[in-house]
Amino acid sequence: MSQLLSVAEARLRLLNAFSPVESEQVQLAHAAGRVLAEEIVSKVDLPSFNNSSMDGYAVRSGDLDGTGPRDPIELLVVADIPAGIVPSLRLGFRQAARIMTGAPLPEGADAVVPIEDTNQYRSEKQIESGFSERVSVYRQVNAGDYVRPKGEDVCSGDVVLQANRWLRPQDVGLLAMLGIMQVPVFRRPRVGMLSTGDELLPLERPLQPGKIHDSNAYTLANQVIRDGGEAIYLGIAPDNEESVTEVLEQAISSQLDLIISSAGVSVGAFDFVRTVVEKHGDIDFWRVNMRPGKPLAFGNYRRVPFIGLPGNPVSAFVGYEVFVRPALLHMVGLNETSRFQLKVNILEAIESDGRESYLRAVIKLQEGNWIARLTGHQGSGNLLSLVQANALLIIPSGVKSLPSGAVVDAWLLDQFGGSG
Ligand code: AMP
Ligand code: MG
Repeated sequence: MSQLLSVAEARLRLLNAFSPVESEQVQLAHAAGRVLAEEIVSKVDLPSFNNSSMDGYAVRSGDLDGTGPRDPIELLVVADIPAGIVPSLRLGFRQAARIMTGAPLPEGADAVVPIEDTNQYRSEKQIESGFSERVSVYRQVNAGDYVRPKGEDVCSGDVVLQANRWLRPQDVGLLAMLGIMQVPVFRRPRVGMLSTGDELLPLERPLQPGKIHDSNAYTLANQVIRDGGEAIYLGIAPDNEESVTEVLEQAISSQLDLIISSAGVSVGAFDFVRTVVEKHGDIDFWRVNMRPGKPLAFGNYRRVPFIGLPGNPVSAFVGYEVFVRPALLHMVGLNETSRFQLKVNILEAIESDGRESYLRAVIKLQEGNWIARLTGHQGSGNLLSLVQANALLIIPSGVKSLPSGAVVDAWLLDQFGGSG
């Protein structure tokens, strides 16, 4: 057992041991939630042609000089341009074309008058028969008014998306606008979950006296999926060498990028896993100056990185958030792996034991300040208080008590809020 490590040091050591996985091409329809592996340079202009931003009349702005509500100017309507049609005419003196939003401007036109500024607004004739031959316009326009010019949004050659970022719905929409059907993204890292303990039963088996269901595998698998990985359930290994070997050997044939185990890392309890992992790899035990979850194991089994988290459900969750998540996000190809952090006011005094502590809380915005209230019992086996929380408060190392009103850092765990 090595000496006490700070959370930051342990995280850095882990992070340094990982690199991004290879990339692959995916169909755009499956690209949301993946991390872009190369920058995207537009080969087109958006919009790709000058078009109307309103339903109205395409005009030559000069024809309308001096027009006002009391001095309308009448124009001859020479065409009707729905969206999707390229007009072939050219507007002459005091001519206009009825035009729909998104339709290309005809030659000669340099502006659009919204239909609301003409005598055709809500006219029955307009509604019934498409367009009337004449339109009275009640306002002046400048060249460019209500026109979305070619290239206004994106110009050919622009870098529209940087590499190493999540693809969000709007990013995928932009790629579709650019006509890009396949995108290079990082492969999803394959992460295996190993649960260890004689007391564990899979959900499919009815509970027996003294036994509990393996819940960590479910929590951890969903954290992995949320962070862009593929979760592979390796199963439960009872506390003996043969079982651990069997599960790990099976894991190796599944082409994993990382194995996460939970439980058995406390002093004296880890011997089976340690013996097995050491036979075909390497393992280091760290005592991290944190709560919950001081013990952490890191190594590799047959060259597959191995992270051993504590067994208590909250410790396993927090250990994942603090150590595994940054490593996985790095593997997934992201440049930025740290969590967004908020400053919050605690609404009650907090006692701590001097270790860097991660406490379950509900935070909310009240009159411009983020305030925090701890949820339920903070024991590391009590998952309900984590379920009720929407944030983890971070009490720095060295702090043993904080008065009500003190400011601490918090990680927002989700955008939906807690139930407290
Ligand atoms: P250990 O690290 O083996 O001493 O386990 C610490 C605590 O976590 C014990 O109460 C275990 O029963 C519990 N635990 C270990 N593994 C799991 C698991 N996969 N799911 C739920 N609880 C677990
Ligand atoms: Mg155990």
